[in-house]
Amino acid sequence: EPREGVAWDKAPCRFCGTGCHVQVGVQGGKVVAVAGDRNAEVNKGLLCVKGYHVGSALYGKDRLTKPLLRDGEGYREISWDEAIGVIADRIEAAPERFAFYGSGQWTIPEGYAAQKFMKGGLSNNHIDPNARLCMASAVTGFLATYGVDEPAGCYDDLDACDVLIMWGNNPAEMHPVLFSRVIDRRSRGEEVTLIDIGTRRTRTTDACQHYLEMKGHGDLAIANGIAHLLIKNGTYDRKFVESFCSFKAPDDENPNLHGKAISFEDYKKSLESYTPERVEEMSGVPAEQIRLLGDLFGNPELKITSLWCMGMNQHTRGTAINSMVHGVHLLSGHFGTPGNAPTSLTGQPSACGTVREVGTLSHALPGGRVVTNEEHRQQSEGFWNVPPGRISPTPGYHTVEMWESFCTPTDQGGDIGTIWVQVTNPGQTLPNLNKLFNPKEQNREALKDKFLIVSDVYPTATTRLADLILPSAMWVEKNGVVGNSERRTQQWFKMVDPPGEARDDCWQTIALAYELFQRDMDGMQDREGRFLFEMAADGEPVPIWQWEHYYDINVDERLFDEYRQFSRLKHKDLAPYSEYVKARGLRWPVVERDGEWRETHFRFSEGYDPYVEEGKKIQFYHSSTHDDRAQIWFHPWIPPAEVPDKEFPFMLCTGRVLEHWHTGSMTRRVPELSRAMPGGYVEMNAEDAAEYGLQNGHRVQIESRRGSLEIPVWIDGRGQPPRGTVFIPFFDETLLVNDLTLDAVDPFSKQPDYKKSAVRIRKV
Ligand code: SF4
Repeated sequence: EPREGVAWDKAPCRFCGTGCHVQVGVQGGKVVAVAGDRNAEVNKGLLCVKGYHVGSALYGKDRLTKPLLRDGEGYREISWDEAIGVIADRIEAAPERFAFYGSGQWTIPEGYAAQKFMKGGLSNNHIDPNARLCMASAVTGFLATYGVDEPAGCYDDLDACDVLIMWGNNPAEMHPVLFSRVIDRRSRGEEVTLIDIGTRRTRTTDACQHYLEMKGHGDLAIANGIAHLLIKNGTYDRKFVESFCSFKAPDDENPNLHGKAISFEDYKKSLESYTPERVEEMSGVPAEQIRLLGDLFGNPELKITSLWCMGMNQHTRGTAINSMVHGVHLLSGHFGTPGNAPTSLTGQPSACGTVREVGTLSHALPGGRVVTNEEHRQQSEGFWNVPPGRISPTPGYHTVEMWESFCTPTDQGGDIGTIWVQVTNPGQTLPNLNKLFNPKEQNREALKDKFLIVSDVYPTATTRLADLILPSAMWVEKNGVVGNSERRTQQWFKMVDPPGEARDDCWQTIALAYELFQRDMDGMQDREGRFLFEMAADGEPVPIWQWEHYYDINVDERLFDEYRQFSRLKHKDLAPYSEYVKARGLRWPVVERDGEWRETHFRFSEGYDPYVEEGKKIQFYHSSTHDDRAQIWFHPWIPPAEVPDKEFPFMLCTGRVLEHWHTGSMTRRVPELSRAMPGGYVEMNAEDAAEYGLQNGHRVQIESRRGSLEIPVWIDGRGQPPRGTVFIPFFDETLLVNDLTLDAVDPFSKQPDYKKSAVRIRKV
């Protein structure tokens, strides 16, 4: 409700990839109220418990407000000039040893500036985001299937589907507002069948008619089991497949993302052994439930939507299972009409916008381009107006390689000497922390030449090892643009000042670039010798690298419009910045028709997607086989990288909780959220707990081959794992579960598997 003296403006929620629309109330220079936007398409006025408290996340007592440089065991306050000078010295001394570690929480302009600085400036591709840890397998799954990244469907599918299948995710806690769209339909009397395929019972399970409890990697067998039944029963969509699809299998002799072509007969043969009974042995899911899925997919009258998130992505066969779920939708023709879609969800507010579209992954360039493609490099160099050859053709280190190199002494081949972390907390989220992060603490002498820079809003598990800490502005303390899970680009303006000397990450990057430009460092000039980030208003350059002038020009708008040029190659067209100012977000491709900028709900589908030619019905216009066809993949089931054995008899799964957003660095500062979920715990099965003589609250030592952790037990709590399985959330920085997790990665996406580590339990 309007309140006197409160000014309201729009912003997306700061937290998850759902991208709820928030109305922000400001009074006296402070955010004083937050409300869900009733007119908003995404959330229709609702927010979840995190969203309602997003304003309070700005006002924790320990906000970082000054640059801090390590001085012995402590830190001393320094000026921004000194801080920028320290980073510039490190880069000047060894530009090739510098790496940037960013985030799906970077706004689009922030990620774009970092990307341009590294690849278009320093000729250095060692830039990778934390999204490598959360959705890289979704990217490779889309690329392997459609030849282009990001979902064809959108959230509207949730309003239209008859069946919603959740593959190893828990949207009731992780994307609660999105999940409520479906629950609302049921409360209005609509029929929608909800199916949860998971490794433990969760709040999502409680709302589902069917729960299919699988063992780790069981999803690979289940997808093959569905395809087996569709072909055996003759219920696949023959016309759709013959018109729009081809078949692929892994090329074992030359492993690559696009595999080798196979015939329909080869595909059918590969699936022969995946009978419901054999799938039951591999997955643990009863044959009857496999038949249920086969029958549902075999029914052309039903509209089926699949959703997934970390369960399928944090998987050493993440690319395979992502491709296979697309495959069962394509094979059964459940694709391309409202309610029929395979859709991956993202965890972070701009994993799609900043990571996938801006291309801040170590092999990527903006707009779906890659550094290994000469034409793509030339196009990018053209847009950036930098000399030919500036962009290196060699992919940089992906996340695990980057941190492994940083934590290896220089004389033993650890060639990354400096990492700048922005908007993320790798000291809590990297897998196998004792290998990939903690060596900086454990081997101080051997790693004394390594230098860690962290920009953040609060002290975190990462800042504890930082050599230089930089205070950042967050959310409505700055302008921003982000992209959510359904290709929706959203914009907001700065509403309040950041505290103390905290500053935008985008400004931090540009200020560093300008310092290097002043020092005549190669790469900071364009073809005409101008500064790489030169920006002009009314023809006059504005010194945006000086904080007092940063907002004299809308840096976000200028960077966004420059970046927008990149968006057309892969039909990810963005509208001009001014359109996003007016709208509550637009889903790309956004094209101008009849004088209006129109968004796209369903891609590749005639009547919705402006790039589908008339009469084609469905057109996969970026097909990797260049014939407008999508690829249906066969991948064999294989066991996880680590399985329980006599020594380590339990399977550990990690994940999130409703009240805390990821590592809790923001939400643990909100008293209401912190009280609601105060600390970490291990979920145990009641029978396992009884066998170990454990009751709620007892402390146990959980050990893996990589580390150990003492933690309280929760039985029959938020989630209920089956026997032989335990679950630990990762939000609690005092209980670092990633000391235990495995760092094995998917061969194509390079994403680690946090869901399947073998552990043992000892009562303390
Ligand atoms: Fe919406 Fe996610 Fe924010 Fe909750 S955390 S309000 S679901 S965007």
